[in-house]
Amino acid sequence: MDKCAKLQVRAVIVKDGDIIAEGRNSPLRECDNVTCHVDNHCVNSIHAEQLALIKAGRRSEGATMFTNFEPCSNCRKMIISAGIKTVIYHNEKYDELNHRFKGDVEWIHDPLLEGKDNEILRV
Ligand SMILES: [Zn+2]
Ligand SMILES: [Zn+2]
Repeated sequence: MDKCAKLQVRAVIVKDGDIIAEGRNSPLRECDNVTCHVDNHCVNSIHAEQLALIKAGRRSEGATMFTNFEPCSNCRKMIISAGIKTVIYHNEKYDELNHRFKGDVEWIHDPLLEGKDNEILRV
């Protein structure tokens, strides 16, 4: 199965200076790179943030997430529930529901992130 050609997103969860989990936007088996695209968006992919959170499990509590795109509202729900403390994202990405989901998380837009920290966010 080829990777869905839609947006490449990577999320990395860091705790106490160590990378504890990472995720990329990943197509499910149902993804065919054609019919999975609705409104120019792959609806059959799990988002990078979600995959990273699943891998990190309870270790996400108090951790920092780095990602190359601003998390969508669905990912925000998971990030807040997982107890992530800080999210640092490189590119802003508009989601009209994002303002509803801030939780106790510190959301930081860092336009220089990828230049500064290529190792972490190389996609
Ligand atoms: Zn797809
Ligand atoms: Zn998302």
